[in-house]
Amino acid sequence: MTNANPSHCIAVIGGAVAGAEVAGKLAESGCEVVVFEQNRRPYGKIEDGLPRWHVALRNKEYASIGERLTMPGVHFVPLTRIGEDVGFRDLIDDWGFSGVVLANGAWRDRSLPVEGADDYIGKGLIYQNPFIIWFNHLNDPSYDGPTFEPQDGAIVVGGGLASIDVAKVLMLETTRAALKKRGIEVDMVELEVKGIPKTLAKHDLVFEDLGLEGCTIYYRRRQEDMPLVEIPEDASAEREQKVRGSRRKVLDKATEKYRFNIEELCMPDELIVEGDRLVGLKFRRTRAEDGRVIATDETFDVRGSCVISSIGSIPLPIEGIPTKGELFAFTDWELGRLEGFPSVFSAGNIVTGKGNIIASRKHARRVTETMIESFLGVGSGDRANPTNTAREGAIEAADQIAKAIMKQPPITPKALATIRTRVANRQKQVGYTDFETWIKESPAS
Ligand SMILES: Cc1cc2nc3c(=O)[nH]c(=O)nc-3n(C[C@H](O)[C@H](O)[C@H](O)COP(=O)(O)OP(=O)(O)OC[C@H]3O[C@@H](n4cnc5c(N)ncnc54)[C@H](O)[C@@H]3O)c2cc1C
Repeated sequence: MTNANPSHCIAVIGGAVAGAEVAGKLAESGCEVVVFEQNRRPYGKIEDGLPRWHVALRNKEYASIGERLTMPGVHFVPLTRIGEDVGFRDLIDDWGFSGVVLANGAWRDRSLPVEGADDYIGKGLIYQNPFIIWFNHLNDPSYDGPTFEPQDGAIVVGGGLASIDVAKVLMLETTRAALKKRGIEVDMVELEVKGIPKTLAKHDLVFEDLGLEGCTIYYRRRQEDMPLVEIPEDASAEREQKVRGSRRKVLDKATEKYRFNIEELCMPDELIVEGDRLVGLKFRRTRAEDGRVIATDETFDVRGSCVISSIGSIPLPIEGIPTKGELFAFTDWELGRLEGFPSVFSAGNIVTGKGNIIASRKHARRVTETMIESFLGVGSGDRANPTNTAREGAIEAADQIAKAIMKQPPITPKALATIRTRVANRQKQVGYTDFETWIKESPAS
């Protein structure tokens, strides 16, 4: 069912948390909305970035996205990549949308900052996004992307929540493999919930019995600087100290429960290569001084089964959208506005640009130690209900986007009819009829 006389017709690029939230808000404000999603399923980082042990959280987020994409006035157009199947400029110039909202997330791994590193992708170097996508889909028969075999002693370069997820995947999978060799099968989700030491104790084992050294996260700052629990911008010195203490506490619990290691104050400096493979990294010791990272003269070599780089995700470029360095050239970061495109706005990870929704300082107050602990599996809180700051950011943005869009001239009946015909044609072309049937027929991970 659609509103016969919508005021405006808006294209949203990306149908996950932010895109669905904005689409729902705009539809409530009287707009017609067309959500273009490159994939079959519209769940973005919830399906491919959030490790699959978050069963309840994922299902809840899937339901919430589905609810919004089936609202009256919202059209879903899957398997349509903007920049490839439909040009970005065409949405405005040719299709005639009143506005465009970029909600396409951050899917490109920031490059490991060591010269020549990318020559070893697939030859000892792994990036976090494909690694977690593989992990989330490893039981999915239709998955055809790169595959990985987690091995003991991996080097993880990073320092945010996502790098802890990578370390947990490595520890859970290598522990399961070691137990399997002893004829013991453990379920991955159960192992994540109970933790490694408790699970082993049930089999009269301790971690050392497995002969695993564990993976190590190499972080350029101190553990207490890790941006897990954010320090509010106006925090007193005392409050800041407390937050730093909380960060250490959270990390201690996580390393104890999942048995990974953290080496602080070091950054990758050189590659260690043997034949055509990356076999390790030379690290440079750093010092923390007034919030800055200072490189020292001390270096040390580390060899590992592989190097996994987890230093942040940035948006993939879309042809026609101006960029500045590795990010889109936003002139206003609150609403992701682009110079020369008065009717283009942005929401979600694409504006925070980090792929880690908890990194936004703006929402610092909402992300407490309790939330982070339960999210990481080391607390007693409700794991299905942590704060999703991508959604909160999108809700805030959607109100302002709706206000700005209302100032644009309303859509004419003719322009609306043209868009509706094009949407119907594209949906037909990709074989889409309705959301429920489509999702039912699209394999989940
Ligand atoms: C408590 C909590 C903690 C979390 N922690 C993390 C974390 O640490 N790390 C993490 O990665 N995630 C984390 N998540 C997942 C988090 O939900 C996502 O980061 C967030 O949902 C991002 O939403 P988004 O809609 O901005 O982007 P995405 O989920 O990335 O969605 C973007 C969508 O746009 C589509 N798209 C991209 N390009 C195009 C194009 N050209 N044309 C059409 N479609 C396109 C994509 O296919 C995708 O569906 C966490 C979630 C929760 C609830």
